[in-house]
Amino acid sequence: MKRAVSLQSPESAAPAGRLYDSRFKTGIDLISQVLRDPARQAISKPLLFRQPAEQYDTAGVPVTEAKIRESASASYWEKKIKDAGFSINGIEPRVFPEREINAALATIFYSLPTSRITQETTTLLTIPLEPQVGKAPHGKKAPKAEKEVLNCEVVFQPTVTPNQKGVITLRLVMGVATGLSQSSSTFTEPGRKEYIPRQGHHVTLHGFPGDASKYWDEHHEEQVRIFHWVENEAPAKFDQLLTIKLHDRTTAYHLTGTKSNGIATMDVSYFAAPDPEHVPKLPKGYDSHDFSDKEIEDLQSTPDPDPSLADKLGKISGIDKLAPEERASIKVVIWQYFKSNPDAVDPKDPSKKKPKKGTRNKEVDAIVPILNPPSGMATKANTNRSVLVTLRFKPNNDVDVEWIGELNKEGNLERTDNQLNKTVSFTRGSLARVNGFADHLQGATESEKVNSLLAWLKTRYPNVTLSPVTSTTTVKSVCDEVNKQIIEHSGEPVWFGNYGIAVSENGAEAEKQLRTIPNACLQNLKSFEASELQIVELVLEKMSDETLSRLKGIHLTRQQVHFQWKGAIDAKDSEKKACKRPFEEQPNLAGITRSGKTGNLTITIFDAANVNLETLFVGGRGAGGTGKLDVEPAPAQIFAHELGHVVFASLEKEEKDKFAALVKGKKMPITWYAESDPQKELFPEAFALYYSDPQWLHAKWGALYDFFDKLDKKMPPGKPAKTKPRPAPGKR
Ligand SMILES: [Zn+2]
Repeated sequence: MKRAVSLQSPESAAPAGRLYDSRFKTGIDLISQVLRDPARQAISKPLLFRQPAEQYDTAGVPVTEAKIRESASASYWEKKIKDAGFSINGIEPRVFPEREINAALATIFYSLPTSRITQETTTLLTIPLEPQVGKAPHGKKAPKAEKEVLNCEVVFQPTVTPNQKGVITLRLVMGVATGLSQSSSTFTEPGRKEYIPRQGHHVTLHGFPGDASKYWDEHHEEQVRIFHWVENEAPAKFDQLLTIKLHDRTTAYHLTGTKSNGIATMDVSYFAAPDPEHVPKLPKGYDSHDFSDKEIEDLQSTPDPDPSLADKLGKISGIDKLAPEERASIKVVIWQYFKSNPDAVDPKDPSKKKPKKGTRNKEVDAIVPILNPPSGMATKANTNRSVLVTLRFKPNNDVDVEWIGELNKEGNLERTDNQLNKTVSFTRGSLARVNGFADHLQGATESEKVNSLLAWLKTRYPNVTLSPVTSTTTVKSVCDEVNKQIIEHSGEPVWFGNYGIAVSENGAEAEKQLRTIPNACLQNLKSFEASELQIVELVLEKMSDETLSRLKGIHLTRQQVHFQWKGAIDAKDSEKKACKRPFEEQPNLAGITRSGKTGNLTITIFDAANVNLETLFVGGRGAGGTGKLDVEPAPAQIFAHELGHVVFASLEKEEKDKFAALVKGKKMPITWYAESDPQKELFPEAFALYYSDPQWLHAKWGALYDFFDKLDKKMPPGKPAKTKPRPAPGKR
C-alpha cells in the first residue's frame, strides 16, 4: 500500500488547462497539481519525528468494542500473574465478589514462586480482608466490623509451555473458617466421654504428609473432631475450612462434600496450619484496578517499543470525572493510541510491515465504545453506548481526558443544542447554529426580527419554501420550518442548489462531469449516501455567506475508489478512452479536487473518506469544557478540506500573499497531512479546522485562526464592513 507521503510525487494525470472560469483568478495553481487527499487513516500515516507542537489528530486508531472486550477478558491481577509467567487454569467458584477474587489474586501475585514449578503443590491462603463497615442504625454506634477472612486453595502445577513457570488453579472456600464450635471444643477438656463417629462415611484424603491413612489413624482426635463437625453442624452440602488447635499445633482441613441421612461423602484436604507470620499483606488499593490498568502501568514503567521514541506514558487526568463504567474502555483507547507497534503488518497485505507510531503531542477527538455491563445489570440505557472524549496527549506524555458527550444511538434527527443534554446526534438540523443567523435577527420586535430573518433566508436558503407570514409567525416558527426541511431534504443532491453547488445524482451524471478523465479511471462512480450529504450540509452551515459565495459553481461527485491514470499526460482522448495505458487503484485516497467538464472545480469523494466515521469526531465543548457542544462526524473534515482547496483557488492575490507571509519559514504541522505537504495542504487543513474545531485552532495556532476568521467575515466588494465581531470560539 502506498504511503501518504508518496502522494507528493508530481501529478501526471492532471487534466491540464481546462480551468477557464474567470472567477477563479488563481485557478492556474490547481491546474498544475490536482489535489488528491488520502484518508485520515493510521495505516497511511507517515512516520515523522516527534511533533514540535501540538497536532490535531485526523488519522485515528480504530479501537473496536471487540478490542476492548479482549482487554476486559482478564482482570488486572490475572494479567499481572500471567506476566510473571503463570497461566491461570481456573478460578472456582466465580460467585465470589470481585473484591474477594481480587484479594486472592493479589495475594497470590505477591507470593508467586520465583522458579519453575516442578511438582504439584497445594497451599492454603488465609487472607484478612479489610472490614466493610456496615451502616449504623439511627442514633446508634456503628457495630464494630469483624475482620473478614478469605480462605482459598491454590494449586501450582508444572507446565510444558517453555516460557511459563507454571499453571495455577484457585479454589475459593465457601465456608468461613470458624475454628472449633463450642461443642467440639469440649474435647480439650479432660475426662469427657469420647465422641464416637457413625459408621459408613465415604472419605477421600488429599495432601496429607506421608501416608495419608497412617496420618489419619495416628491423629485420632483430629479425625474425631472432623466427624463431629460433619455430623452435627455441616449442611447437606458443604465447603468448609476447619482449623483444629490441639496443644501446641494447629492444623487446617478443607472439607467439601454432601451429607445424606447423616452419612457424608466428602473430600478432606490437609494443610499445615497457616503461619500468621507469613500471611502476605494485601497491597493498598488492591481492589481499585480495572482491566485496562495493567497495560497503562506497563506503558508508564517500560519505554515505548519504537526506538525513536523509547519514552513512557505520563499521568492520566480527568478519568475520575467519568462514569465508572466508562473509565476502563477509555483507558484502552489511550494505550492503543500511545503505544507504538514497530512490527505491525499491513492489514491489506500481511506480507508487508506497516509500523505504527504511537500518538504524541496531539489532540484526539475519539469515539469510544463502552462495554456493556454484565447481563444481569444491563438495561436499555446502559448497553451499546459510545461516548465522545477529547484526549490531549501533552508534550510531557501526560494525557488529559475531557468528556464531551454520548453518541445518540437512536439516530435521532433532532439536534440538541442544549449543552446539558448529553446526547449528541450528528444528523441534525438547526438554523440557529448557521453562520450568520444571529447577525440577521435585527429589530426590536418579533415581527421585525422575523422580517430580517426572512430577508436573509432568501439568499442563504433560496430554495427553502416557507409558509406566508401571518400574525402568529415567530422567529421560532420560522426556525422550526427551516429545520424540518434541513432534516428532511439535506440528504438529497438537489438540496445543494441552495448553495449553487451541483451534486451528481448518480454515476452517469458524475461521469458526464468528469469526462476529461480517462474512461478507465471512472469506474464505480455512484451517488452519495443521504448521510454523507447531511454531513456536507453541516459543514456548509458553519461557513459565512461570504465563504459560501466562493463555492458557487462547483460540483460534487462520488466514486468508490480513486483510479490513478498512469498514462501520458498528453494522451489523446481516443487513447484515454481505449485505456491502453495502465492505471492504479488508490484505496487510501479520500478526496480529490480537480477541474471538471465546464472548467469548474469538481470534488470527488471516495469511500476512504468514511474510514474514521466510527473512530473520530471533530469539534468539542469549547474552552474549559464550558462552551456549547458543537461536534461533527469525522468525514466533515474531509469535505471541509476539499472545499478549502476551492476557497484557496478563489483567493485574490493579496489574500494569497497574506497567507504565504503568515506561514513563510514557519513549521505549522497542525495535522500530519498538513505537515506532509505544507505547500499544498496546510491551507485546506487549517481551513477545515477553523470550521470543525475552532476552539483547538484558536488555542494552538492563533495566527491561523485569525487569518481564517478574517477571511470568513470578509465582505464582498461594495458592501459595508461588518462591525459586529464574531463571538469568541466556544460561544458561537
Ligand atoms: Zn488536499
